[in-house]
Amino acid sequence: MGASTALRNYIDGAWSASTATTYLDVLNPATVETLATVPLSPAKDVDEAVQAATRAFVSWRRTPATERIQYLFKLKGLLEDQLDTLAQTITQECGKTIAESKGELRRAIENVEVACGIPMLMQGYNSEDIARGIDESMIRQPLGVTAVIAPFNFPGMIPFWFMPYAIACGNTTILKPSERVPLTMQTVMHLLEQTGLPNGVVNLVNGDKTVVDAILDHPLVRAVSFVGSTPVAKYVYSRAAANGKRAQCQGGAKNPVVILPDADIAMTTRIMADSAFGCAGQRCLAASIALTIGDARQPFTEAIAEVAQTRVVGNGLDNGVQMGPVITTQSQSRIEGLIQKGIDEGATVLVDGRQPKIAGCEEGYFVRPTVLQDVNPLSDIARTEIFGPVLSLMHLETLDEAIALINQGQYGNMACLFTTNGGAARKFRYEVEAGNIGINIGVAAPMAFFPFSGWKDSFFGDLHGQGHQAVEFFTQTKVVVERWQEWTRQF
Ligand code: NAD
Repeated sequence: MGASTALRNYIDGAWSASTATTYLDVLNPATVETLATVPLSPAKDVDEAVQAATRAFVSWRRTPATERIQYLFKLKGLLEDQLDTLAQTITQECGKTIAESKGELRRAIENVEVACGIPMLMQGYNSEDIARGIDESMIRQPLGVTAVIAPFNFPGMIPFWFMPYAIACGNTTILKPSERVPLTMQTVMHLLEQTGLPNGVVNLVNGDKTVVDAILDHPLVRAVSFVGSTPVAKYVYSRAAANGKRAQCQGGAKNPVVILPDADIAMTTRIMADSAFGCAGQRCLAASIALTIGDARQPFTEAIAEVAQTRVVGNGLDNGVQMGPVITTQSQSRIEGLIQKGIDEGATVLVDGRQPKIAGCEEGYFVRPTVLQDVNPLSDIARTEIFGPVLSLMHLETLDEAIALINQGQYGNMACLFTTNGGAARKFRYEVEAGNIGINIGVAAPMAFFPFSGWKDSFFGDLHGQGHQAVEFFTQTKVVVERWQEWTRQF
C-alpha cells in the first residue's frame, strides 16, 4: 500500500489526504498482515484542522447544550449498532480479544452517556444579595479548540474519556490517535459524520510526535488531553504549560496488588490472572506486582502459576482465545529483555512465556503469560513498567511493610488489596498513595461518572478525565457581579 491508499485525515467535515511525505504500515500484531498505511502528518495539516475547529467554535458554543447533546445521543445509537464491527477493528489493529475489544467499547459508550448530562453537569451557581441589591453568579463557558492525544492500547475507549465532554461543553476538538492503531478512530469519525455534527467540531489528524508538537505549539489550541507513557506525558505537560495551555496528562504505571492470608485465593487468582494477563498486560491498570503476605505466599504462587501456564493465547479474533499478542516486535523484544533483566537481578522464572510458538500465528508478536518469583523490591524490574503479560511476585510479612513499599514507588495509578478483613481494607484505602484503589478488584477502572484518578508519575495536571472533573477541565468559570437600580416603574 502506498501514499495514494493511505488513511485520510478528517478536517472541517471532509476526508482529506494528508500532505505527509512519510507513512507507516499498520500491522495486525497477531498475523503481521498489513492493514493500512497511515500518514505521519506535518504541522501544516494540524494548522488546517485547528483553523477549521476555530471557525466551528463560533457557532458551536452558541448552540444550546440541549441541542449539542442530540449528536451524542445519535452517536451512542450508532456505536451500539456498530459495536461488533468496531470490536473487530480494535482486535485486528491492537491484538486484544474480541471480548476485550467489546469491553473497551462499552466504556467508550458509557462516557458518551455521561456527557449527555451536560445541560445539568455544566450548570453554574449564584448568590443573591452578596451586598444590598447586588447578586453574583458563576457560569461555565467552553474554552475553544481542544486536542486529544491517545496511546495504542485502547484505540476505541481512550479518546472517549475526553472528546464527548469537550464537545458537549461547547468546545471543538482535534483527535490524534496512536499511529500504531489509527483504524478504529476512522470508523468512529464516519459515525460522527452520520450524526450530522457541524463541520469542524471534531477533526482527526493522523501522525506521530510532529502532530503532537504542532498541537502543543499552536496558539489557538487551548487545552490538551494526553494519555501515554510517563516520559511523553511529562513532556506534553511541560510544553503545553509553557505555551499557556491547560493540560491533563495520564502516564504509565506499575500497579501493585497485596494478597493477605485471609483472601479467597481461588477468586483472587482468577481476578489476578485477568488483571495481569488481560489485554496481554498492555493496560495502565494491569496488576504488575503481586505482594503476598504471610501464609498467602504458597497457595497463591501455586495457583497463579497454574493459570498462567494454561491461559489460551492466540489470535484475538478466534473463539476461546484468552490473550492476544503484544503490539509490535519492538514491544515483544523489550518485554523479553525485561524478563531476562529480572532473572539477572536475582528473580526466578516460575512460568516463562518467552518465544512461544502460536499455531496459525507463527509470525505474530506473542509473549505468553510469565510469572517471576522472588523479585527483589529494590531491583530495576520491580520499578520498571513492563507493559506486557508479566507478573512479579514478592513476599512480605506484614501489611504495613507492603504499604510502605507501595508508597516508595514512582507511580500511583492503581493499588489493590485482596482480603476478607474490613479493617485491613480501610487501612489500605486510607494510607496507600495511589489514585485508583481496588478492594477485591483486579482492575479498578473508574466508571465514566468518576474521575480516572492517577497520582504521582501516573498523572500530570490537576483535573482528571471523565465525570465532573472533565466538565471542569473543558470549561472556564466566569463570575458575574450585578447591581441594578431598584425597580420603580409601573406599567
Ligand atoms: P506513547 O507515550 O509512546 O504514545 C502516546 C501518544 O504520544 C501517541 O499518540 C504517540 O504518537 C505520541 N508520542 C509518542 N512519542 C512522543 C514524543 N516523543 N513526543 C510527542 N508525542 C509522542 O504511549 P503508548 O506506547 O502508545 O501507550 C502505552 C503507554 O500509555 C503505557 O506507558 C501506559 O501505561 C500508558 N497508558 C496510560 C493510561 C492511563 O490512564 N494512565 C492509559 C493507557 C495507557
